[in-house]
Amino acid sequence: MLSSKNLLTSIASPGLRREFSLLKNQGFINGKWVAAQGNAKFEVVNPATKAVIDSVPDMNIQDTKLAIDAATEAFKTFRNTTAKYRANLLRNWYNLMVQHSEELAKILTQENGKSLAESRAEITYGNSFVEWFSEEARRINGEILPATTDNRKLMILKQPAGVAALITPWNFPHAMITRKAGAAIAAGCTCIIKPSEDTPFTGLALAQLADDAGFPAGVINVITTNTSNSPDVGKAICDDKRVRVVSFTGSTQVGKILYRQCADNVKKVCLELGGNAPFIVFESANIDLAVSSAMVCKFRNTGQTCISANRFYVQKNVFQEFTSKFLERMQKDIVLGDGMKQNVTHGPLIKKSQIDMVDHLVQDAVSKGAKLHCGGKRLADLGELFYAPTLLTDVNENMEIFAKEIFGPVAVIHQFESEDQVLMDANNINVGLAGYFYSENLSQIFRVARKMEVGMIGVNEGLISCAEAAFGGVKESGLGREGSKHGVDDFLDIKYLCLGNIQY
Ligand code: ADP
Repeated sequence: MLSSKNLLTSIASPGLRREFSLLKNQGFINGKWVAAQGNAKFEVVNPATKAVIDSVPDMNIQDTKLAIDAATEAFKTFRNTTAKYRANLLRNWYNLMVQHSEELAKILTQENGKSLAESRAEITYGNSFVEWFSEEARRINGEILPATTDNRKLMILKQPAGVAALITPWNFPHAMITRKAGAAIAAGCTCIIKPSEDTPFTGLALAQLADDAGFPAGVINVITTNTSNSPDVGKAICDDKRVRVVSFTGSTQVGKILYRQCADNVKKVCLELGGNAPFIVFESANIDLAVSSAMVCKFRNTGQTCISANRFYVQKNVFQEFTSKFLERMQKDIVLGDGMKQNVTHGPLIKKSQIDMVDHLVQDAVSKGAKLHCGGKRLADLGELFYAPTLLTDVNENMEIFAKEIFGPVAVIHQFESEDQVLMDANNINVGLAGYFYSENLSQIFRVARKMEVGMIGVNEGLISCAEAAFGGVKESGLGREGSKHGVDDFLDIKYLCLGNIQY
């Protein structure tokens, strides 16, 4: 049974509160909506309008400890629940997410800035992980192994690892939480979710829906922290022996800090870090298809996606055609603005540091001789965080943008001659999350797919994520996989059981 409980906390903006019953302005610990111990708060702004959405608690080490206490206590009983119970819990949560999809999408657009159409797509995508893991919960099977002697039975049991901390970024405030929490709950773990300081409201709304879905107190906790408290909170999580799993999505830099910090008490770590995806167009490719995919793959979430195409490589014979068609589509298809407005396709960048970084990369490249085909500037009349869709060619290794993850609406197109050369260039980087290529040559498809040093590949396809697939990278893009049947692995301990001296 779903409870109809819908606890409203005091919200600063009465207008938004009336519109969004799921807009919460407190943390969620042990089944209760709570302020920070020291009552500290911080404001969260809508990046498109700069209007303050509301304030949320600026939680610190003490609050983190309370959340870990709650998750630890809840784990004592939750670990023993049946798979069917957890499957039903997740299904209830999923049903409520579907029921509240439109409200979740609007909250997401308010805090992240992406267009409502993109938010709706993210909610559908994010919900699908909870649905998927509600099904996977009942398929976490152990194993019976062939015994070494005839009086033994050898087994592998799979047990929940314990309390899991889920630290998530601002670019997919819904899906990055559901992808982790769905798997953790399916496995029988309890969790502490720390959403990004830029987008805490979607995570808080999900906590309300989890409560409504009947989650026992302490199974899901959400703590909100401002930028200045995040490192301390992260360290408190890593230092606490009771937390057995840290699952993080975010920058490579912070991922490395957490990886190091988790070494001391050897936690399980799942890291989904930065990418720098190559997008290769071979001369056999269907160019119109490649251009359409490039538009989505580059500009989804205004380029702020870790699997965004970051380096376009186009074979010499089709370079002109691809570049001019892509430029035309960029100028025709993209409408920037407040994501709540109907015709807007793309929103602003998330924050000042982000737009400053994007602009710096573009200006550095142009000043060193890159060719600017369009954009290359801020659009202050739309708002402080809007940047014009930008296309650059003639980029070389002396320019910072050559090897950096751009995380903005800036496309860089390189020209190449041979397959060997482009593979060398594409792989000549310390990260390897996603990669894409376009070819109609079957042998080339298998050859290139085998040689690309990434965790995920789109062949003649630019939108590859789904709950069924294993999401994750190689090299410095991270460890572990999310989604798919492998998504639960990081939340499970394998226990080998040897039953000896059986009398037959
Ligand atoms: P971005 O640069 O894209 O904002 P970050 O890696 O800084 O990505 O942030 C991703 C998540 O990690 C956010 O929830 C943020 O608050 C959190 N975070 C940032 N620094 C730390 C840290 N030192 N320890 C733990 N979490 C952190």
